[in-house]
Amino acid sequence: MAEVIGIDLGTTYSCLAYINGQQPVVIPNLEGNNTTPSVVSFTADGLPLVGLPALRQAITNPENTVYSVKRLIGKKYNSPEMAQLRGKFPYRMTEAPNGDILIEAGGRVYSPQEISALILGYLKKCAENYLGTEVSEAVITVPAYFDDHQRQATKDAAAICGLKVLRIINEPTAASLAYGFDTRKNGRLAVYDLGGGTFDITVLEIQDGIFHVLSTSGDTFLGGDDFDNRLLSWLLDEFKKEHGIDLSRDRFALQRIKEAAERAKRELSFTPETEINLPFICNTDRGSLHIQKRINRSFLENLTADLVERTLLICEQALKDANLDISRIDEVILVGGQTRMPLVRQMVTDYFKKQPVARINPDEIVAMGAALQANIIKGQGQGLVLLLDVTPFSLGIETEKGTFQKIIERNTTIPAQKTMAFTTVENNQRRVKIQVLQGESPVAADNKLLATFDLVGIDPAPAGVPQIDVSFEIDADGILRVSARDTTTGREQKIEVKPAAGLLPEELQEIIERRQKEVKSRNEEGLL
Ligand code: AMP
Repeated sequence: MAEVIGIDLGTTYSCLAYINGQQPVVIPNLEGNNTTPSVVSFTADGLPLVGLPALRQAITNPENTVYSVKRLIGKKYNSPEMAQLRGKFPYRMTEAPNGDILIEAGGRVYSPQEISALILGYLKKCAENYLGTEVSEAVITVPAYFDDHQRQATKDAAAICGLKVLRIINEPTAASLAYGFDTRKNGRLAVYDLGGGTFDITVLEIQDGIFHVLSTSGDTFLGGDDFDNRLLSWLLDEFKKEHGIDLSRDRFALQRIKEAAERAKRELSFTPETEINLPFICNTDRGSLHIQKRINRSFLENLTADLVERTLLICEQALKDANLDISRIDEVILVGGQTRMPLVRQMVTDYFKKQPVARINPDEIVAMGAALQANIIKGQGQGLVLLLDVTPFSLGIETEKGTFQKIIERNTTIPAQKTMAFTTVENNQRRVKIQVLQGESPVAADNKLLATFDLVGIDPAPAGVPQIDVSFEIDADGILRVSARDTTTGREQKIEVKPAAGLLPEELQEIIERRQKEVKSRNEEGLL
């Protein structure tokens, strides 16, 4: 029987697991490590390398080494978040015709979905190699605060590498599943998940095998990368002050400084002081210049404490949404590599007034929960476990005056469905346009446009007579589906859907076929 796996597709590192007997077990990658850098690098011939070999190329081949693609997936090139980030990546990006992001690397243009597909394809290969059998189905985790576009794009990435997604589940929910499975305890949990690029807080209740998410909140643009960038900016400023040289335009130097900043940040979680040493960072007519700085833990803490404070404000919101006072939280679980920072642990402990649960590996617990969920979906899980998750954003439509009418409120348990009746405003009107948005602002334009739906082929009738029931459904993956029915005729109403982002079905098909051809030719050449 083919195995199913759980994949934690992280911003900086990814991890995969399967169920051995009834226990979740992490699958090592081809190099024998439990986590794999979520990095893709292209050689001079345009061949992709994934994981550690790709990470090793980051300094020598920065323009063709793509990391943190999870921060780009499902995002618009001109979005405010991207404006902040664009100069921070050494690889080139351009705007797709529909406003999405494209990445230029290895002599080609890739969508973020294709880069993610290369990572997922490598993980699939690791699993097949380890388990000695084909792996074609997986549960993949995403940040709870991922919106519809980001979820759909993740699903498309899996399709590109030939993986069927059994379910997209939220990272904190997966972590709680693994934790609850292990401890079999009932109670209310807060899962605080600070990874490389995203922050999520989820409040949930476990009661006799039922995992009921009460609320979730987060920020898809707040994570460990931001801590690194604080140090990076400081190092650039210092260098400019000392030498009058701006290194931010030097891609090689930038990459070296970024890596050194991240390393120093990690070290300061275990040692009170560290040194950043970057010899020959640039050459001038006066000779080579170097960076040499000693920094201590409290310096890093001062540089980044406001980032941790931002996460606590989001925790506040999640507790409010769950209608819970802090004292009602029984346990706090820390997930994501950035929670290893002592300041994060301390501030979270002070906020929740309790020590987070020990004995959890924040890098592996999400993949283990995903594997458990895969097993449950396949009907192989032991004991009753029911996962009741919620949608992180409200879903609604734009009304005539540019206001946003909510149809499904955020933190509603999914799958969720709501039906609305639409009619015509003119005699013999044959089509009605509906703009579907996701977000919380009462102003439609401030929310994210998911898609435009045209109800077409309406039978000619006086204004206001046709009644078309449109059902908006958020499925168990947190992705929107829409269907419509003409209640006068009882007919299924035709809908033309124009998604506001992502790959169109025909584009996805084309990419899948192209990739299959590439894999086949590489196999024939003995390259894979
Ligand atoms: P994840 O997305 O969960 O893999 O988290 C990756 C983030 O955790 C990156 O920003 C890492 O720099 C950060 N990280 C990993 N280990 C540590 C550590 N010991 N101290 C601080 N941050 C860390």
